[in-house]
Amino acid sequence: MRYAISDVPIIKRMLRSRWLQWSLTALTLLFFVLAIIAGLVGTPAGNRNFGIVFVWIVWWALLILLLLPFAGRLWCGVCPIPAPGEWLQRRALVQPRPGGKLYTLGKQWPRALRNIWLQNVGFLGVALFSTVILTTPLATALVLLGFMIVAIGTSLVFERRTFCRYLCPVGGFIGLYSQIAPIELRVKDTAICAGHTEKTCYTGSDEGYGCPWLVFPGGLTNNMSCGLCTECLKTCTRDNIALFVRQPGADLLKTTGHKLDEAYKGLIMLACAFIYSTVLIGPWGVLKETARAVGTPGWFAYAGIFLALNLAILPGLFWLAVRGGQWISQPAQTTMRKLFSDYAATLVPLGLTAWIAFSLSFVLVNFSYAWSVLSDPLGWGWNLLGTVGLKWTPYIPGLIPYLQVPVLLIGLTAAIALALRTARQHGQTPWAAAPVTVFCTAATLGLLGLYLA
Ligand code: SF4
Ligand code: SF4
Repeated sequence: MRYAISDVPIIKRMLRSRWLQWSLTALTLLFFVLAIIAGLVGTPAGNRNFGIVFVWIVWWALLILLLLPFAGRLWCGVCPIPAPGEWLQRRALVQPRPGGKLYTLGKQWPRALRNIWLQNVGFLGVALFSTVILTTPLATALVLLGFMIVAIGTSLVFERRTFCRYLCPVGGFIGLYSQIAPIELRVKDTAICAGHTEKTCYTGSDEGYGCPWLVFPGGLTNNMSCGLCTECLKTCTRDNIALFVRQPGADLLKTTGHKLDEAYKGLIMLACAFIYSTVLIGPWGVLKETARAVGTPGWFAYAGIFLALNLAILPGLFWLAVRGGQWISQPAQTTMRKLFSDYAATLVPLGLTAWIAFSLSFVLVNFSYAWSVLSDPLGWGWNLLGTVGLKWTPYIPGLIPYLQVPVLLIGLTAAIALALRTARQHGQTPWAAAPVTVFCTAATLGLLGLYLA
């Protein structure tokens, strides 16, 4: 069951207008530049600096609590990071060049790197230093600036949005969790595509550019690599592409054909949700201090444990769970690598709900900093909107566990259902899903223990 929401005339007009996406991107770019300026010249006190408060509390809350679960990759469609590079590539801001021509060296990304391994590495790199980045305005500014410089350089050398597709550390997990969203962009009828030799959605036309994300919309089967930029809605001459409202998590119902890089992304995200919950909001201040003391022997120990948990311990435990299921019921002609990758789809709802639960605890507690920072973004004593006097007030702190528990239980229920479905689609008995179910249950209980403690 799905409904083509972009066929509603007013929505179709909005999505086909070149101004809507451009204006939203320009707006996010304005906030992005302000965050960088605040980080470079504003107060070093994180809770009074626009860069820290608006990136790591307001934007993060918007992304994890609203956009990802309900709108998938919508953020990627209006993200400011690739915008300057893309405008340089197009040598245009709003209206397209004739034929959707791009000005770039147009190099192709190496075949061996056409996956999300580099995004996994980039995310781990940022996550390892996150206690510093999340609390130090200058570090946040330098990271944001670094992202933008790499995105511009990539746009000038490589074709289209190679940066978003293969490099952006944020894009990797947005793509993974976008599979849960109740929306999807797909073609309406693949037979029409087969008969349309020009394939203007991929090559571009006078109406717009070929898919910036290097995908052929007619071949899309999940949300992971569509950045919802709406370009193909403008360039499809057959009115054959639509934005659909669909059953949440529809992409995950096909529990075969997943890849190892996606599996590792799911494991890394789950491990990081655990580590952040322990280090950043847990009761052990010494852990937070150690994670911030970059370069000290204690920090190197922390970094070693962090990497071991992400790359070996959690993947190892998950491998044992999948291997246990294989021992219970040997599927016909399925390798351990395929089973491991396919069962890892269970980590998508589990991981997203873990991040939602983690984010609820610090977003609701710290959101009120946003009101005073709006009036004094640099911490220079301004009072632009008259809100600088609004004091820090945690929102509904007593209710947070009552929100976290159901959220985590929804994730666990979806994970167990997916584990059973994976077993069935691989021709295993339902008991083969038991070890992965135990893994997911243990992860949920661990998180619950941390939040309720
Ligand atoms: S332009 Fe439209 S009809 Fe043609 S191949 Fe692309 S999606 Fe299909
Ligand atoms: S498939 Fe369409 S909406 Fe998705 S990234 Fe490509 S052009 Fe943009």
